Amino acid sequence: MREFVTQSDDETIALGRRLATEVRAPLVVLLLGDMGAGKTTFSKGLISGLGVAAEEEVASPTFTLVHQYGRDPRVFHVDLYRIEPGRDLDTLGLEDVWEQNAVILVEWGEKASGLFHGPRWELHFEDLGGDRRRIRLKEF
Ligand code: ADP
Ligand code: MG
Repeated sequence: MREFVTQSDDETIALGRRLATEVRAPLVVLLLGDMGAGKTTFSKGLISGLGVAAEEEVASPTFTLVHQYGRDPRVFHVDLYRIEPGRDLDTLGLEDVWEQNAVILVEWGEKASGLFHGPRWELHFEDLGGDRRRIRLKEF
């Protein structure tokens, strides 16, 4: 397990960019933690760091469920906030996404934890108060 503490949203974006250099598709990145903990902010850094979008093009897919970026690698950014826990995610038509040679970021990934069998990162975001966030990375 690796642990980071950031002091601002810019530092969390920078962490995403730094970790992007370690990403090899296929990879599922589960983003875990409460509302406002920094999952979308981190995604801006990771996705822009992969070179498939500019930071300001990355927005929360809360209402659309899935945003797709790039071709090499193909990147999917998913937000399961509005999905009920335990609901069968197959009904959402996401199953094709999981099978591609892609990088898949999943906000509220705890709702889909049983779904992935390949290489996986789990990133736990925790609000330490003010602008401080603790981010723990586990690689599976
Ligand atoms: P989530 O996707 O987990 O709900 P967001 O990334 O959308 O969270 O929101 C995080 C909020 O917290 C933003 O308003 C951001 O500006 C603020 N913030 C303050 N400090 C940090 C930090 N260190 N890292 C990430 N976001 C931070
Ligand atoms: Mg979010």
